[in-house]
Amino acid sequence: MFGGTMHTGPCLCHFAGTAPACSPADQSGGGPSPASGGPVDRAVLEDLAAASRILAAQGVVDAFGHVSMRHPDAPDRFLMSRGLAPALVTADDIQEFDLNCATCGGDQRPSFLERFIHGEIYRARADIHSVVHSHSPSVIPFGLVETPMRAMFHNAAFLATGVPVFDIAEKFGATDMLVGNSEKGVALVKALADKPVVLMRAHGSVASGPDLPSAVFRAVYTEVNARIQHQASAYGGPIAALSPEEGVLADAVNMKAGQRAWDLWRRTVQL
Ligand SMILES: [Zn+2]
Repeated sequence: MFGGTMHTGPCLCHFAGTAPACSPADQSGGGPSPASGGPVDRAVLEDLAAASRILAAQGVVDAFGHVSMRHPDAPDRFLMSRGLAPALVTADDIQEFDLNCATCGGDQRPSFLERFIHGEIYRARADIHSVVHSHSPSVIPFGLVETPMRAMFHNAAFLATGVPVFDIAEKFGATDMLVGNSEKGVALVKALADKPVVLMRAHGSVASGPDLPSAVFRAVYTEVNARIQHQASAYGGPIAALSPEEGVLADAVNMKAGQRAWDLWRRTVQL
């Protein structure tokens, strides 16, 4: 499934114009750094960096949180910023990883601790090409209580098939709550199952999509949906949320119309 052709060209970071800063941390776990999946267009790196800034501008991420995308030519590689506040990310900050979350091409700049969320999702879900992890505040309560998150309106149709909750304590007991290794990433993916979004108890959430704009769209509207559900709940009584069937129909429209949101948001974070 992930048998992409391996390229032996220079590291992605050379094409991003970076001079990797050395760090004592060996991101490859002691072995040789994996090879790059090949060069990536500068425009792709700029879009990924812009996605970080969009998510910050939309209030989905703050000093923490991250967005990634699968390498366009190598399905067993993915791209994500080095460890940095999302609002500050530029194309020069993008790193390349293999699915074990080791940096490729000898890039030793420090990476996000929770990159295993991304690597294990890409390993397990061939349909997913972009992942957003955030701690967006309106979503957090739905990981704490028994009331499930439901799709409150058409823009959040992707939630209508159900929103699972990953409780890291179920398998790992008391932890720092972070998905900081592959084993925890695998457990998170098990909870995600075939859904686009999973909540993380007392931590945050993950939104995903078949491409970068759709993952950003879903991360933004997961947060908006949470706010609306809080407001609807305040009235008491049943909530007439989207049915699963309505969700499928509305999501098909969103996957095309959502491009308008990307075009708007992309322009607002232009450097
Ligand atoms: Zn986190």
